[in-house]
Amino acid sequence: MLPNNVLNWGHSKSCIRELAAYGTARKAEIGEDKVFDFSLGNPSVPVPDCVNEAIKDLVNSNVPQIHGYTPAVGLPGLRQAIADDLNRHCSVNISPALIYVCCGAAAGLASAMKALLLPGEEVICFAPFFPEYRVFTEGAGGVLKSVKPDEALQPDLEDFRNVLSEKTKLVVVNTPNNPSGVILTADTLKKMSDILRDAEARYGHSIYLVSDEPYRELVYDGQPVPCIFDFYHNTIMCYSFSKSLSLPGERIGYIAVSSEADEKDDVFACVAGAARAMGYVNAPSLMQRVIERCIGCTVDLSTYRENRELLYNGLKSLGFDCVYPDGAFYLFLKTPEPDAKAFSERAKKYELLLVPSDDFGVGGYVRIAYCVSSEMIRNSMPAFKALAREYGL
Ligand code: PLP
Repeated sequence: MLPNNVLNWGHSKSCIRELAAYGTARKAEIGEDKVFDFSLGNPSVPVPDCVNEAIKDLVNSNVPQIHGYTPAVGLPGLRQAIADDLNRHCSVNISPALIYVCCGAAAGLASAMKALLLPGEEVICFAPFFPEYRVFTEGAGGVLKSVKPDEALQPDLEDFRNVLSEKTKLVVVNTPNNPSGVILTADTLKKMSDILRDAEARYGHSIYLVSDEPYRELVYDGQPVPCIFDFYHNTIMCYSFSKSLSLPGERIGYIAVSSEADEKDDVFACVAGAARAMGYVNAPSLMQRVIERCIGCTVDLSTYRENRELLYNGLKSLGFDCVYPDGAFYLFLKTPEPDAKAFSERAKKYELLLVPSDDFGVGGYVRIAYCVSSEMIRNSMPAFKALAREYGL
């Protein structure tokens, strides 16, 4: 007999991957440039020069054990560099001893959840949320509870109060957000933290805030994302270099436990234990060395910024209702019919691949990933126009 839940994760494809697979088949059929594939969040801008230079230099300079095992927690120099980088932006002092280098945010989140959850404990996610949170939660024996958004797609804090329970162990925030591009304001984070502190006092146990931050540097209007450690003591950050350095296939990121967290050393030991139990021996060795040299560096954001304007202005001028994205590289479009899946299907008629929002925990939207060429966005506008006409916009 096979475990049913695991079988189900293996069989049920993510709606994003399914649409991307449809796109690949359709492109082979009618030509690459005929399909407007907005399905995947695969960075389209090149890695910064510093990354390529670091790789070449490392490979040419006979670094001992360059491809060898590293300590499970990561190379000491990299952990120090990550702590120094965080300490440039945060008031709470972050210790290198509480940094665990891991294989991207996905591995970080799965490890953090497995580290902290007892069977049946609850994980609160704010809709709309990254669909894999459900798999990571259930994979760690937890139960996902969803909080609805307000009109501006910030969390509805009244609903948050109601969803919190004695069983809540973890709360996940993701800012800038996939799929909406929304950044949580400092005011929201402060109120959320106050609610959490009250809940900890009420229930008499620690509640951990897991901050999923792969898009932290992808902000377009100047104001940096507030440092989460400065709001709440029991915070665990899951960071990834997948988007900030366009390295998603290289699988590199880190988990940072706040030096103000309850039982911080044991929490860190649980993270290490969870990663060990899942067979993560260490994050890729060459990449650890590359990141140590390139920390603080970010991809050129100008293409994403241009794409955001092109797409948002184009869609608004056609009569679509969209959320203006402050960060990440996603635009959330309110579908002119309530059924997002039906809208996404109809968009396919015009070769537009838009991800329906249902798996993100809300209905009535599609996600448009604008990490594509600006030319594709320009070329897609007649298709969007034809789609808008179907709805009398
Ligand atoms: N969290 C969010 C919100 C994401 O959008 C992604 C990837 O797209 C991940 C986590 C996983 O990122 P990584 O590639 O670092 O595992």
